[in-house]
Amino acid sequence: MNILAIGAHPDDIEVMCAGTLAKYAAQGHKVFLATATNGNIGSAHHTMEEIGRIRKAEAAKSAAILGAEYVCLDYDDEMFYEDRSVRLAFINLIRYCKADVILTHYPSDYNPDHELTSKIVNDVAVMIPIAHLKTEAKPYDQIPSIFYFEPSSGMRFVPTDYVDITDFYETKMRMLDCMQSQRQWMADNYTALGGDLDRFFDTIRITSEYRGMQAGVKYAEGFVRALDAFRGKMTERVLP
Ligand SMILES: [Zn+2]
Repeated sequence: MNILAIGAHPDDIEVMCAGTLAKYAAQGHKVFLATATNGNIGSAHHTMEEIGRIRKAEAAKSAAILGAEYVCLDYDDEMFYEDRSVRLAFINLIRYCKADVILTHYPSDYNPDHELTSKIVNDVAVMIPIAHLKTEAKPYDQIPSIFYFEPSSGMRFVPTDYVDITDFYETKMRMLDCMQSQRQWMADNYTALGGDLDRFFDTIRITSEYRGMQAGVKYAEGFVRALDAFRGKMTERVLP
């Protein structure tokens, strides 16, 4: 299968579903990582152009660990809005990757870019096969299955599906390690962490262990399957 993870910002995918992507890749599936924005507000020191460029390079490095391709739609961080061209860019992205399965943000999340990314992915999934919606990449005759990954707060999120990532937890941490420009930024901006980087990594480990405990394994990532009509492969287990 072709697996496409779509996050709003470089690092979202690494925090929330990198273990699952690593498992897909190890099973021989083709994996793509995409972000709607280039993360160009994620620094107090660099210019927006600099930090956008740095974060795209970090995301590409993380994707390379899986032998995966990284695609950035290059919208502005926190100034991401939907219009006709944005919708078509998402359709083109999904068609380019010929995605069978899409992993993206949960519709209810703390960040507007996360929520909008989730909404657009969900909205355009049914448009993928429609020939009159012209994009550079050709339509294909399938509506991808969508799974929402967990918000980093974990709030209001009750998984319907779990992926055992025990053997891929170390890979997830290596992918996260590519996000060097964001390490202190994340610790500083998750207010409850008070600038403590160790606590940031603790939250990722604790979430993985908590979902693992629910699933009866050491480490797991939780997902909610989008249950709208006419999705592809609804009778199959398509998570790894
Ligand atoms: Zn984000």
